[in-house]
Amino acid sequence: MDEAVGSEAAEKLFAQPSNFVTEVPKIDVLPPDSLPEVAFAGRSNVGKSSLVNALTGRRTLARASQTPGRTRGLIFFDLGGRLMLVDLPGYGYAKAPKGEIKRWTALTRAYLRGRQSLRRVALLIDARHGVKANDEAIMELLDEAAVSYQGVLTKTDKTKPPELAAVLAKTAERLAKHPAAHPEVLATSSESGQGLPELRQALAEFALPEVVSST
Ligand code: GDP
Repeated sequence: MDEAVGSEAAEKLFAQPSNFVTEVPKIDVLPPDSLPEVAFAGRSNVGKSSLVNALTGRRTLARASQTPGRTRGLIFFDLGGRLMLVDLPGYGYAKAPKGEIKRWTALTRAYLRGRQSLRRVALLIDARHGVKANDEAIMELLDEAAVSYQGVLTKTDKTKPPELAAVLAKTAERLAKHPAAHPEVLATSSESGQGLPELRQALAEFALPEVVSST
């Protein structure tokens, strides 16, 4: 079994330059799967862009959506040449045009089902709302595709401790019913920074090892 990555090593990885690689509008133009990948999925407005930016300590890496539910492609970022971060389009935004929703749902599903290099999906869930029906649909898809995923609560700064404890327990209970789900649920806030080191550490496990120059 792989050894758990230390928190210092994880911080170092996420402090590496992260380069925008590409925004992919179609499944047949994905970048080569040369690096291990971790993807971020969640309902529109869950705080996905804010979390990706907070994890990498950048303000503009993933553009926080000015317009909720703005449909778009899969966005790939290379983290220090060791890990690919993939920001998936948010789902569940009812006001987007139907055709668009269909197109992006199909793209996301095709990516999640078929990507060889995909190691883990961080499934983002708003701490105030808990697991919704469309989160369950993604979980089922990931179970079928045998893609490992971890529940990550967002915006915990907006919840009171007892409320957060309850939603954490409830979310863990829901995830425990899913074969491909990781048992531990993380609680994060891009605003307060809660849980960011833990999430970095969880994701850094999938990165290629650091190349240490011998000279
Ligand atoms: P996305 O649609 O999932 O990419 O969500 P965004 O990152 O654009 O965030 C949606 C809204 O939630 C924005 O108004 C953010 O400022 C807000 N938001 C995101 N993360 C947090 C957080 O950790 N705490 C608080 N209080 N608000 C947040």
